[in-house]
Formats: sequence, structure tokens, C-alpha cells
Amino acid sequence: MNDYTIKAYCFNDNARIYACRSTDLVEKARQLHGMWPTSCAALGRFLTASAMMSLMYKAGEHLTFKIDGGGPVGEMIVEASYGVVKGSIHNPEVFMQYNDGHLAVGRAVGVNGSLYVTKDLHLKNAFTSIADLQTGEIGDDFTYYFAASEQTPSAVGVGVLINPDNSCKAAGGFILQILPGCPAEVLDKIEERLKSIKSISEMIDKGMSPEEVISEITEGDYRILDTNPIEYRCDCSKERFGRGLQSLGLKELDEIIEQDGKAEIMCHFCKKKYNFSKEELIKLRKELALIQQETE
Ligand SMILES: [Zn+2]
Repeated sequence: MNDYTIKAYCFNDNARIYACRSTDLVEKARQLHGMWPTSCAALGRFLTASAMMSLMYKAGEHLTFKIDGGGPVGEMIVEASYGVVKGSIHNPEVFMQYNDGHLAVGRAVGVNGSLYVTKDLHLKNAFTSIADLQTGEIGDDFTYYFAASEQTPSAVGVGVLINPDNSCKAAGGFILQILPGCPAEVLDKIEERLKSIKSISEMIDKGMSPEEVISEITEGDYRILDTNPIEYRCDCSKERFGRGLQSLGLKELDEIIEQDGKAEIMCHFCKKKYNFSKEELIKLRKELALIQQETE
């Protein structure tokens, strides 16, 4: 089975649900970052929620998510655009468990901070919404974000299971959103269903597809609107890092050229390394000087 997200209306069209399998996506992130189990579960849940949320926007619209809860994993950043995600984590080597053996994601992420969501929707300016972290378990934090920042009552479940060899065993998630005008008895029913279901990672681990997850949550009361692949992919390039070097300014570039005579830059999202020779740096400097002359 591949990773994908299903979007559906459910509970007699009184709610909307996104459900996904993200096992391959999380495993790719684990391999790129060399993550230990708790770091992998934290970033994996974050990537999964972000991938689903990015499908609430159009292709070409770009979301950047940041969580910094003060815990041992440190800052995590995810960039997402229509189901394609990439992420970074400050400390990939965290392994902490609760007494019951579950990975201690909330403790590793921490709660002394916020979830930041920056939307670049090709309007004049990108804008950022901020919501306080609730438990650091990621699902709860997104649930609170939707309620507080988007006034959309939601339930978010995200989960990652890790194999004994540290690879990702199963990962997935759902976002259920209540639509305006939902009757009270339907709300009660939704709450009751959410209490009775197994965790999302268990469902994915059992081999359930996103459609089957939705069917389980809604007891078959849904109609599918959309199916979208989701994946971890980095779109970095030497050209883009060249522009990054130019953004340092002429003075800084001169210093690098004179003192180091070269530059090596590593992408935080895919760990690919880009080397710039002295000649390439001088060329970038020349281009920048020309641009600055033109705009003067
Ligand atoms: Zn990259």
C-alpha cells in the first residue's frame, strides 16, 4: 500500500474528514535524519498532520509549520505544499518512553511553546497564526490550533509505531472537522465514535487503508471527495542555495571568499551537501553586485 490521504464528507455531511497512511513518508524522514524512536514519532506525527492540512489548500499554496516546546527534541520545522512535505528536527537522537512503554512524545517535545502556522497563499503577505502547545503530543496541539486559530472544532489523531530495528512500522492520521450547523445529537455521536475507536497507528498497523479508517470512525456514513498521494520530498537545488549565499550580502560574501575560499552548505531537510568553489562564489558575488547596481 502507498501513502495517500482520503478526503470525505461524513456523518450525513455534518463533518469533513481527512485520513491518511504515512508510513513510507515517515520512514523516509527517519532515514534522512537518522532519527531515534521518540524523535521519529514526534517529527513523524508532525509531518503527517501537516501533510493532511496542506490538502485543505490549493496546489502551489505553501504552508510552513514550526513547533518549539522547549523539550529535548528542540525545534521542529515542516514545510508542506499539497501533500508534499519535508521537515527538520533539532535533535534527531531522542529515545524516551512513558512507564507504559509508549514513546514519550509529549515529554520529548515539551509544552513551553507554540505551534506556528505560516500560510503563503500568494496574497500580498504571508501570515502566521500561533497557538499554545497543549500536550506536545502533536494531535492535541493541532486540535487546539484548529479551534483557537481557525474557529473550526476538530479532532486530530496522528500516530507512529516504531519497529525494534528503529524503522517505521506504521504511521497515519486523521483530521475530523465539524461543519457549521451540525446538530447536537450528531456531535454526541461523533464524540462517542472517537472514544470507541482504536488508535490510528494501530489501525494502520493492522493493514487498514485510509478508506477503512474513515469507515471505522463513521460506521460507514461517508462519501469520498478526493484521493491524494502524500510524500516526503525535498526540492532543494544548488541554484537556490546560491541565492541564499547572495542574501548574506557583498561584505559577508567577500569574507567567505577571502577567508575560506569555498563554501559547503547542507540542506536541513534532506541532508544533501552542496559545494561552492572559489570561482563559483566570485561569480555569485559579481551577479549580486550587478543586481545591486541596477536597483540603486
Ligand atoms: Zn534538500
